[in-house]
Amino acid sequence: MTARVFTGGRVFPMSSLGAPADVVVVDGDRILAVGERGLMQAFPDAIVEDLAGRILCPGFIDAHHHLSITALQPRWADLAGITTIEALGARLTEHAAREPETPWIRGAGWSDLGTGLVPHRRDLDALGLDRPVLVAHYSLHEAVVDSRGLDQLGIGRSSLDPPGGAIGRDLDGAPDGRLVERAWSEAHAQSLAPFADPDRWADHIEVAAHRLLRDGITAIHDAACAPPAEAAYRMLATAGRLPISVLVMPHPTAVLTGPDMDRLSGPPTGEGDQRVRVGPIKLFADGGVLPAIDVHLGGEPLRVGELFPDLEDHVELVASRGFRVAVHAIGNAGLSGALDAFEAAARRHPDLDHRFRVEHACLASTSQLARLARLGGVAVVQPGFLHHLGQAVEGVIFDDASWLPFADIRRSGAVMAASSDAPCTFHEPLRTASHGASRRTGSGAVLDLGQVVTYEDWLWAYTAGAAYAGGQEAERGALVPGLQADFVVLEGELDPDHPPSVAETWVAGRLVYQAGETGE
Ligand SMILES: [Zn+2]
Repeated sequence: MTARVFTGGRVFPMSSLGAPADVVVVDGDRILAVGERGLMQAFPDAIVEDLAGRILCPGFIDAHHHLSITALQPRWADLAGITTIEALGARLTEHAAREPETPWIRGAGWSDLGTGLVPHRRDLDALGLDRPVLVAHYSLHEAVVDSRGLDQLGIGRSSLDPPGGAIGRDLDGAPDGRLVERAWSEAHAQSLAPFADPDRWADHIEVAAHRLLRDGITAIHDAACAPPAEAAYRMLATAGRLPISVLVMPHPTAVLTGPDMDRLSGPPTGEGDQRVRVGPIKLFADGGVLPAIDVHLGGEPLRVGELFPDLEDHVELVASRGFRVAVHAIGNAGLSGALDAFEAAARRHPDLDHRFRVEHACLASTSQLARLARLGGVAVVQPGFLHHLGQAVEGVIFDDASWLPFADIRRSGAVMAASSDAPCTFHEPLRTASHGASRRTGSGAVLDLGQVVTYEDWLWAYTAGAAYAGGQEAERGALVPGLQADFVVLEGELDPDHPPSVAETWVAGRLVYQAGETGE
């Protein structure tokens, strides 16, 4: 195969060497050479690709993206932007008619932020539909279920709240339909079951994965990958139908729970190839809608949220079975739980490269981040959270912890990897990075300028940082000879107010997306 030489633009190699480069040479699916202009003379027969002043950087790795769930969203009623019970009912009714076969009628993307919209089970009963109805919150940390659905789940007046979850109740103690955190895990699994045939799920994943190429995403980490979704990814890769690389983070189909014991006997972290590889096991320290927070506000203590049980035992179990771990921790008390568990596992297994991951780290103190850095840990963060969460916490300044403390993470020495947490927020890296670089929230206000991270540093976190989080630094995430030739060409400047756009996406040395081309 003839080599290609990319030149005439601004190259961001994102390599640890930090040397500037003008030329990138690609041969087959690999990067062959990177260097200054003189390097071109060594490749007189190469095809020259003129960057025409544009930016060349590694392909984006979204280090926390629920692709297998996102892929099913088109099969559920779209409740994003719905603000009234009437509109919610109309969407669900329309959807039920369009999907007459599925055993559950499921809506996705419900939000109470700004609207206060929380349906009651009776609102869903009143639709008179012929199957159980489930309305999933955009966070995937709670849902509302109708009476038929509660019956099917075996949830009634005498049901106890599970550890790490809450069953919403009326004043007389009867369930009101709301299932929060671990109380909704089983409802999620049951309403997902019709798609759990790996063939069927794979068709949806293939379509969703193709869409990511136009946003420059060439790899994702599926941050809670159910066993049938893992099988679907392998099937797609074998058939040559998976357009991006996927690191699967195994988790039971019933979300937010402890590790799947059967899966711990399966392929451990690192197994696989460049298309599908096993990543860390995903565990949870605290809630998503009920993050565990323990802070002081104007000198007064404030403790709220839900700390999940058994984390230290689960981290130890997973580490002893040859897996790395990634722990969801949104609140600072959740983060303390994760750090305690990491430190205990590091003491018991001092010889392992644990590369502990904290997912989110939305509220943290500098001393907590120093502990993460001492462990050699990684914070996998979501700059796009500035949009929703940033807006919700405007003006809430705690004495002892900061919201979305991105600059503190970088100063701590812990590695920062970037991600979207799609479908909980929008996924486009160039858009989330602009929130992270401007600290602008959904209202247009600016949240804590002391935590600004530059646009270029966000691109590092989306490439080299994310590759490190996945243990993939020897295969992707930088423009370095020998690594996979996944890269993007960007049009425009790294300006958060006027972010650049993706002009081209290349995977394994092949042009797979070009802006303006029809068919994409
Ligand atoms: Zn997530």
